[in-house]
Amino acid sequence: MRFVSTRGGGAPLSLSDALSLGLAADGGLFVPEQFPQLVVLPAANQTLAQTAAAIIAPFFAGDALQDALTSICDDALNFVTPVVETRDPATQILELFHGPTAAFKDVGARFLAASFARLPQREDGQPLTILVATSGDTGGAVAAAFHQRPGFRVVVLYPDGRVSPRQAHQLACFGDNIRTFRVDGSFDDCQRMVKAAFANPELRAAVPLSSANSISLGRLLPQMSYYAQSALTHHARTGEPANYVIPTGNLGNALACLWARRLGLPIGEVQLATNANRVLPDYLASGRYAPQASVATLANAMDVGAPSNLERLTHWLPEIDDLRQTITARAVDDARLTAVMQQAETRWGHVVCPHTAAALAVIEDLRAAGDTRYWIAVATAHPAKFDSVVEPRIGHPVAVPPALAALLARPACAAPLSATDAALLEVLTASVTA
Ligand SMILES: *Cc1c(COP(=O)(O)O)cnc(C)c1O
Repeated sequence: MRFVSTRGGGAPLSLSDALSLGLAADGGLFVPEQFPQLVVLPAANQTLAQTAAAIIAPFFAGDALQDALTSICDDALNFVTPVVETRDPATQILELFHGPTAAFKDVGARFLAASFARLPQREDGQPLTILVATSGDTGGAVAAAFHQRPGFRVVVLYPDGRVSPRQAHQLACFGDNIRTFRVDGSFDDCQRMVKAAFANPELRAAVPLSSANSISLGRLLPQMSYYAQSALTHHARTGEPANYVIPTGNLGNALACLWARRLGLPIGEVQLATNANRVLPDYLASGRYAPQASVATLANAMDVGAPSNLERLTHWLPEIDDLRQTITARAVDDARLTAVMQQAETRWGHVVCPHTAAALAVIEDLRAAGDTRYWIAVATAHPAKFDSVVEPRIGHPVAVPPALAALLARPACAAPLSATDAALLEVLTASVTA
């Protein structure tokens, strides 16, 4: 399998090259040259790692990493993504928050790290620096995934005061080969600083840099596995394909579900739930794509005004009518997220994070319109990770899962950094000699 850019530039590349580059040279996103089809579906009721190895195999075929795929999956996907019942017999919840940082981004970040660790090491023996700007969940997942891996260091930038206190702690609690900076600025400033570093040829000649953002194939591919596993189980039990409602920001999680369906897995309808950043629903309704500056909402991991993976979707389905056949999207505002969180225990039997609440709001709307089909709501983070949003609204504390408690028990230390490209440059060049 070879990979090409959504913008059509450059020669097709191997998986290993596409993984290490992250972004194509022409600024496009990597997609398979020919999208594969599974000839035989994997068995239902296998582990997440076994399911992942089976469905990702066509994408690794012919690459230097092909023989490592099973060990990458075993190493990275060593936790569960269970489907749990709710008080509505036709609604289930797919829990993606049982990894080390209690959000679904652990799946992609751990697979990426396990893959990078198996690529050939640099001949000059310099470590590879993974540079991440984060609005909260990505930085923690990437830091956890690369923590104490020889040959790598991670530099995390987050906007000081604009992530939840628990997210801030989690970002800064690793130490060792992870360095975390609280930037005196916004998330956009952090992203600008990272982009400037990648665009600096002298820096890149001196310091080997790579990224781990949500457009990386190494994050996208493994996210197909929990859809495959849950859909195969649902299909074996009912004979029906599984329908999903997915909380959506940059479209990485949702695109993985669509790719799993395209591979041939028994997946039916896919509905996207955004927060008040309603670029996707508006695009599907009007046919005009109008990216916006993001607005802050209670579901902050979905505060995205220009979804980065949309380019893969429109490359696949350039006609708006084909896109409308493939997905639907609804926006859920903060007042509604609050109402869903407040009623979730009574109505569904679960306390949910604000992102998961967006998915449940869409299912409530479907039920109100008379839809009686089976739906699986995707739970993207544990509610304890967003305690400062959830607890005041539900009026009681949320129990902290053991993995998150272990991170919160570690001391945390983030260094301050001014929001200038020069400040980051100094950090990165100093780290070479450190
Ligand atoms: C990142 C994130 C999302 C959005 O996922 P995308 O792949 O960007 O669409 C939703 N919920 C949580 C908790 C997240 O961390």
